Amino acid sequence: MVDKHAMIREIKEYANIHNVPIMQEDGINFLTTFILKHHIHRVLEIGTAIGYSAIMMALVDPNVTVTTVERDEKRYLEALKNIKKFQLEDRITLIYDDAFHVELGDEEFDLIFIDAAKAQNIRFFEKFEGNLIRGGFIVTDNLKFHGLVEKKEEEIQSRDVRGLVRKIKNYISYLKDNKRYDTKFYDVGDGISVSNKR
Ligand code: SAM
Repeated sequence: MVDKHAMIREIKEYANIHNVPIMQEDGINFLTTFILKHHIHRVLEIGTAIGYSAIMMALVDPNVTVTTVERDEKRYLEALKNIKKFQLEDRITLIYDDAFHVELGDEEFDLIFIDAAKAQNIRFFEKFEGNLIRGGFIVTDNLKFHGLVEKKEEEIQSRDVRGLVRKIKNYISYLKDNKRYDTKFYDVGDGISVSNKR
């Protein structure tokens, strides 16, 4: 088998060339360390892109399984290819669909990683929290949105971006006010939250 590090490098290069947003280095380190430290085994990921974070999470420990959802066909096909290269087909289940159409029944997860459309975070949270065990975690990436969330609204030129920033701020307030979870915010990657289900 080709060196794993070289294969990871190839995935990152592909992401770079094709403008596919994948987790930043310190963000993925935070997530994989968290999985290891909290003995997480069953992960649900919303937003596979080309499989980078799913593969990194699965590589943490042979007991980790990941179910991951992607709605973009080209990215889904690339993810499928990457997962095969790592021979992780038996531990990573890739679902090609819009997450809002996915029904997971009573399947349980220890951690849900939300990394899809930033404006929809509350909807993703509420759609899948029923599949999270008590004591489990919901992790969300991109809460800083490249530093834009900390800026004053007037400083943001584009109306669309202002709207997106407002939605991220709403999500942050939603997490802070949600008494069913204890949420901590981390200044790593593009801003990460970890919500622990009480
Ligand atoms: N987690 C990936 C990683 O770090 O390697 C990066 C995911 S990328 C930031 C977000 C992905 O979510 C995009 O590929 C996008 O197509 C997908 N996405 C956005 N909304 C979605 C939805 N409603 N259902 C499924 N996938 C969605």
